[in-house]
Amino acid sequence: PSVFADVVQAPEDPILGVTVAYNKDPSPVKVNLGVGAYRTEEGKPLVLNVVRRAEQMLVNDGSRVKEYLPITGLADFNKLSAKLIFGVDSPAIQEKRVTTVQCLSGTGSLRVGAEFLARHYHQRTIYIPLPTWGNHPKVFALAGLFVKTYRYYDPATRGLNFQGLLEDLSAAPSGAIVLLHACAHNPTGVDPTFEQWEQIRQLMRSKTLLPFFDSAYQGFASGNLDADAQSVRLFVEDGGELLAAQSYAKNMGLYGERVGALSIVCKTADVATKVESQLKLVIRPMYSSPPIHGASIVATILKDREMYHEWTIELKAMADRIISMRHQLFEALRAKGTPGDWTHIIKQIGMFTFTGLNTEQVAFMTKEYHIYMTSDGRISMAGLSSKTIPHLADAIHEAIT
Ligand code: PLP
Repeated sequence: PSVFADVVQAPEDPILGVTVAYNKDPSPVKVNLGVGAYRTEEGKPLVLNVVRRAEQMLVNDGSRVKEYLPITGLADFNKLSAKLIFGVDSPAIQEKRVTTVQCLSGTGSLRVGAEFLARHYHQRTIYIPLPTWGNHPKVFALAGLFVKTYRYYDPATRGLNFQGLLEDLSAAPSGAIVLLHACAHNPTGVDPTFEQWEQIRQLMRSKTLLPFFDSAYQGFASGNLDADAQSVRLFVEDGGELLAAQSYAKNMGLYGERVGALSIVCKTADVATKVESQLKLVIRPMYSSPPIHGASIVATILKDREMYHEWTIELKAMADRIISMRHQLFEALRAKGTPGDWTHIIKQIGMFTFTGLNTEQVAFMTKEYHIYMTSDGRISMAGLSSKTIPHLADAIHEAIT
């Protein structure tokens, strides 16, 4: 018998498992609204034209080799990534108070940041929003942090529970880490307004709570890279410290290339240098150094004015298509006279709509309409098209009536 005979079958990942179930369904009308990946109007994955061009340039450059990157990754990529999130003129960057390391997409950046905090920060409790991306609690707990939640979403209004959020952060122990979604909160699509961000900032700074931003959707929410970084920049402007995890999965469509960055903004350049030296000690035994290809694509695009411009146009087109899907779904439900207030479909921001459909309703829609989504009723607007919207509207209508 196998020495592993006692290993029990693990459950599928609650998010990735939706696609596993979808793939097994032979129905021709099936729709996958579970994946957090952009699809075209034809339902196909999209490689940005500017990414194809950058790859072509890299391939044609005969001087490029496959040597290891340094532990911290591609230097150009790190500099450009910091500028992308903090702004080109960020004083924190000019004062060399920021250390940026290339990591394995958003997830890897969160994990490296969390491992660093578990080793070197005095307060090991992290507050994450309720609800949040399903991987957050696992990433932080396995890194050695203690995970607690703060109120975020109000099912009654399908909006922000701002009062609850302020109360919970006020009650958090001084110094606690707070995970904040920079924009396009996943799974709810609910973001604080600019004024609310400012209140959150004041409260957090007065209680010396440490912000850890997760920026997985910069540019993807509004179509504008600067607008989607406002929350983060607000916290950098006050001169305080923070962490930020960036992902290029969605905004450059580089999902499988696993390219992202962790930045830590420190009080002084001296502290930033020491912090970076410790980040290297976290990374080296984990995976030695990050992969070269995706970071080279990103650096190529970010450093070339014309390619950068093309990227912003393609990015805006993705964001606009998603926003248009929101309007089309909302209109389809209104035309059918589906009972209830569906304005949250157009109010929510980013890739997902938190529909408010319950587990039974979701199960019904999967069984009867072959529509796949996570059991919390989250649907990926990027997985919809003008062709599939009537089918989804029919399903929602029947599920709730
Ligand atoms: N954080 C949030 C909120 C996300 O939604 C995601 C992806 O779905 C990630 C982080 C990490 O994604 P990746 O590791 O592919 O960059």
